[in-house]
Amino acid sequence: MLGEGILKGLAETAKNFAGSFVSAERMTTVEYPEERIAPIEAARVFPFLVYDGTDWESGMRCVACQICEKECPPKCIYIEKSKDKKPDAIGKPQFYPAKFDVDIAVCMSCQICVEVCPFEAIKMDTEFELSTDDRFGGLLLDREELSKSNEYYHQIHPTEAAVVDARLTEGRAKADAKTTAAAITGAIRGAEIPKRPAEGGD
Ligand code: SF4
Ligand code: SF4
Repeated sequence: MLGEGILKGLAETAKNFAGSFVSAERMTTVEYPEERIAPIEAARVFPFLVYDGTDWESGMRCVACQICEKECPPKCIYIEKSKDKKPDAIGKPQFYPAKFDVDIAVCMSCQICVEVCPFEAIKMDTEFELSTDDRFGGLLLDREELSKSNEYYHQIHPTEAAVVDARLTEGRAKADAKTTAAAITGAIRGAEIPKRPAEGGD
């Protein structure tokens, strides 16, 4: 029928309009900041850097590979790789970011940095109350301001963080097994191979 789609659309709009006065599900206006809705697990605002353990500096997962910096569409990540290395979670020496800044005035919350990071080092935060009157310095977050613990990550994105932890544990177990196998092979090769006794001739 001609105009059927328009009529269906108008009926839906009317239903939603009327429902917004009576249905708790449709009453979406929240009197912020006095009222707040519970944070949504899938929410994403700006990135943060995950660290393991209790010290942000030694536990930082980021190895300053700079992939996120290259892939960030508006180029709002600034990284300087360290000159030295520090041990990572499994004791392997790794570079770390001597400088890691994100300009959240420019960030468009696309999450590409998270998707390209091979080290599960950068994730999206749900913190949105970041307004400041310091237009430049206040919105340029440095590595310390960006660093948040893995426990915090579990609080805001429990499902995703559990999957990431499982993946990391599996990767670390494989790396451990590889190191052990290499050590055993090295020990066997290094061991003195006894000479075969000379075979007796006639
Ligand atoms: S969320 Fe997007 S825009 Fe923001 S830092 Fe990551 S890649 Fe860049
Ligand atoms: S956050 Fe990830 S992708 Fe970005 S520099 Fe660090 S390790 Fe590399």
